[in-house]
Amino acid sequence: MKTESEMNQVVGKEASLLWNAMHRYNPEAEQVVAVKGEGSWFTDESGKRYLDGVSGLWCLNLGHGREEIVEAAAEQMKNLSYFPLTMNHQPAIKLAAKISELLGGKYQTFFSNSGSEANETAFKIARQYHNQTGNPQKYKVISRYRGYHGSTLGALSATAQANRRVKYDPGVPGFLHVYPPYSYRSIFDGSPEESDLKAAQLLEEMINWEGEETVAAFIMEPFISGGGVIVPSMKYIQRVAEICKKYNVLLIMDEVVSGYGRTGKMFGFKHAAGVQPDIVTMAKGLTSGYLPLGATAVKSEIYDVFREAGKDSHFRHVSTYGGHPAACAVALKNIDIIERENIVERVRTLAGTKLSELHHLIDHKNVGEVRQIGFLLGIEMVEDKQSKLPMSDEKLAKIIGLCKEKGLIIGKNGDTVPEQNNVIIVAPPLTSTVEDLDFLIDTLTSAIRSL
Ligand code: PLP
Repeated sequence: MKTESEMNQVVGKEASLLWNAMHRYNPEAEQVVAVKGEGSWFTDESGKRYLDGVSGLWCLNLGHGREEIVEAAAEQMKNLSYFPLTMNHQPAIKLAAKISELLGGKYQTFFSNSGSEANETAFKIARQYHNQTGNPQKYKVISRYRGYHGSTLGALSATAQANRRVKYDPGVPGFLHVYPPYSYRSIFDGSPEESDLKAAQLLEEMINWEGEETVAAFIMEPFISGGGVIVPSMKYIQRVAEICKKYNVLLIMDEVVSGYGRTGKMFGFKHAAGVQPDIVTMAKGLTSGYLPLGATAVKSEIYDVFREAGKDSHFRHVSTYGGHPAACAVALKNIDIIERENIVERVRTLAGTKLSELHHLIDHKNVGEVRQIGFLLGIEMVEDKQSKLPMSDEKLAKIIGLCKEKGLIIGKNGDTVPEQNNVIIVAPPLTSTVEDLDFLIDTLTSAIRSL
């Protein structure tokens, strides 16, 4: 009989037929085949352990191996293995109520399976809402350059990163992109706040130039994540919310990454006092990645437009697996743990007392800027501080490779054009221990300092 380790080796060999998403990297390079996870760590088939410094794809918020979550899924599957949301089931009803409570205000939630679908759902809701409220010409969706909103064609059309789109364009008609609040490389002079507010002004200009009667929605992440961890001034978010309101443009807040504690608040938009989005999309941290689930939470006054009896006003949208009972049960347990263990508070504290140690790297000649909000941190690497020329892919690969050798997984992003993919990403599980964070900080610091 084969040992567990021998069995795992067999699985590893078969993985060569797997088409994974390591699109940018050398396909011949040795790839990690994970076999077990524990907390913030996973083990590969050779027995080597890695700290997952990016929470999988920024989703493993509570880390691996939470028995309670596993039991919630198993219990739900035993009770009601599947049920469509053309009718109702209890976990979905409870979860929708919980989401509304967490968002503050009254929100109605439509469930799907992923962040991309949550955003697709939001775009369709926005268009239909305007269609049914006497503004059928309002169909355009505006998003920001560098923002990422998903991989399906609508969500990809809102994703304004040339490098991700170039081979799949043209995108869906009616998607427009506006300048982001990226003070480090902004064309605007002044303080970061001033340059961010000028970026907000460009949104207003765009709405005017396009004709406000044609613009349905504006979608934004509170903190651009996949586009290089861009942390704007909170006044920017407030100003954008005002502009959207002024022109009857629905504000869609993409909380797929920033939701559920990642930034030190339950939702990223809560950092900007007084902002209450019309639609909030979420996935990832909603279940800590244990099962797929997407959610589109919509203010009740918008939802009301979809339930006028006898007017064929309902939302023509259905998802076979969206809001699967087991996924909803997992989300409820996940939120229960986040609240019970004060995870959001923990993130806020450790972000300031521990993860922030990485800001010391700013004295390194190749570090242009260190940006952080909670457990989301980006280090913009440059050839030199003066020119701000993005660091070459080769050098970045060296840093990431060195970390991997020592057992630390980190990411890089930016992704506007190939030569601007120069931001090192750090986003560990929110439950990482102080020792885990020390290991992350020491390993990454020595890899960068070895340049
Ligand atoms: N929105 C944001 C901000 C994301 O970062 C992502 C994925 O990384 C998505 C949407 C799409 O989510 P998914 O990969 O679950 O479709």
